[in-house]
Amino acid sequence: MSDTPVRRPLITGDGRIATEEWFPIASRLDGTPLGEVAAAGIDDVDRAVCAADAAWPAWAALPPSERARALSAYAALVDSEQARIAELVHREMGKPLSEAQAEVARAAEVIHHFAAEAERMWVQQMPGPTLGTGSWVRPAPVGVVAAITPWNFPVALVIWKLAPALAAGCAVVIKPAIEAPLAAWALCDIAERAGLPAGLVSCLTGDGPLIGEALSTHPRVAKVAFTGSRRVAEQIAGWASPRLKALSLELGGHGALVVLPDADLDVAAEVAVMQGYVNSGQACYAVNRVLVPPSLAGDLLERMRARIAGITLGPMATERGLARHHMLIEDAHSHGARVEGGEELVPGRLSPALVTGAGPGVRLVDEEPFTPIVAVLEMDDTAAAIAEANRPDYGLVNYVCGRDMRGALETAQALRSGTVAINGWRVVVPYAPYAGWRGSGVGCELGRQGLEAFVHWQHLRVLA
Ligand code: NAD
Repeated sequence: MSDTPVRRPLITGDGRIATEEWFPIASRLDGTPLGEVAAAGIDDVDRAVCAADAAWPAWAALPPSERARALSAYAALVDSEQARIAELVHREMGKPLSEAQAEVARAAEVIHHFAAEAERMWVQQMPGPTLGTGSWVRPAPVGVVAAITPWNFPVALVIWKLAPALAAGCAVVIKPAIEAPLAAWALCDIAERAGLPAGLVSCLTGDGPLIGEALSTHPRVAKVAFTGSRRVAEQIAGWASPRLKALSLELGGHGALVVLPDADLDVAAEVAVMQGYVNSGQACYAVNRVLVPPSLAGDLLERMRARIAGITLGPMATERGLARHHMLIEDAHSHGARVEGGEELVPGRLSPALVTGAGPGVRLVDEEPFTPIVAVLEMDDTAAAIAEANRPDYGLVNYVCGRDMRGALETAQALRSGTVAINGWRVVVPYAPYAGWRGSGVGCELGRQGLEAFVHWQHLRVLA
């Protein structure tokens, strides 16, 4: 990758728009300038939305196989530029390069998946009494989608919205987080280079609240697809809901790993450590609480410590994340919990924190930490573990480890979350839905359901 700082204008369907104001972007690895992104204003939002609104009807009118072909060409170009995009993610938000590479590779798989789904969009037909009469139920694209995305998976969370929306026949205006806009910008630039029609994919970088409000209240935006914090989700819902826009809100989690009495402790330790500290804990599907029978706790902790010893985390992506980490650790200490690790040995970089002796009332047990902290809580029985797993108002991803599959499945079904992983940690696949329940959100992404999230159902009733 070239070390020359780049200047990234807005992508709005009218070509590239330079603005008066620009945001500097520096590497989280070492502070070197990576470049600048344009700061969109209200007029730019209107320009992008109007271009999107002009572009989608012709795109939606294409046979699904042609949309699929265009999406496959896009996926192929993302595939061929994987290394460059991963390097951008690595630098702009500090994620280890291997994790950034995996994120981009999986995002390309998601585009391939939705390219195929575009061809599987179906029409249901119920024949009437005479030939040519009856009911046709067809999916129709919702229209212009505003996609507002966070910095922690700056590629995946753009693609999870962009690919199904395009497959459904919609146009998308993307507003990436200002902490990591360059990778998102690259994805939009590639979309244009892959030959997707002008206006179909826009990228508005800049101030979150300003662009977020303008998009969420714009009369021509049909749906707002948001991933981020609950605080901002409530704000966006406050703008979009009175205007009756469709909404999907993918929010934080507070993942529990329920370790059953017959669990393989090596597997449990692997799940706890892999998912506890992935992306320095800045992952919505992280394991935050390990719920273990008292008789197994010592053994499990030993195995976790052995794995933790081999881990070096990347820098935290934001200063506020670092500050939050220190606050949570201080709060745990003040409640008498024991904390191993969790120090800022090198400025900006944390060591993994392992917390014992904490329970409800300690903030890191009650609230999503979003920093590299795993708390191990001893639970007297499985019923108590299930109750604790379901206690905080989150419901994104939980984990279960147990050898007896029937017992593991029964436990999994009692957990109130959109996803439960059993005896492993690879939770996200393109072909199954990823959904937050309760305080973790509304709607879902991925899977066939992730495509249906961008359509209206239309009933054509032919009576004669
Ligand atoms: P955030 O809510 O601060 O920001 C998300 C997006 O909203 C960014 O693009 C930001 O610029 C924009 N924004 C910020 N303030 C706004 C406002 N007032 N109005 C409109 N838009 C605004 O979230 P974050 O800190 O970037 O991301 C972390 C959160 O995202 C965590 O809670 C995490 O768990 C969650 N998350 C959820 C999923 C999921 O799929 N469920 C995936 C990843 C992250």
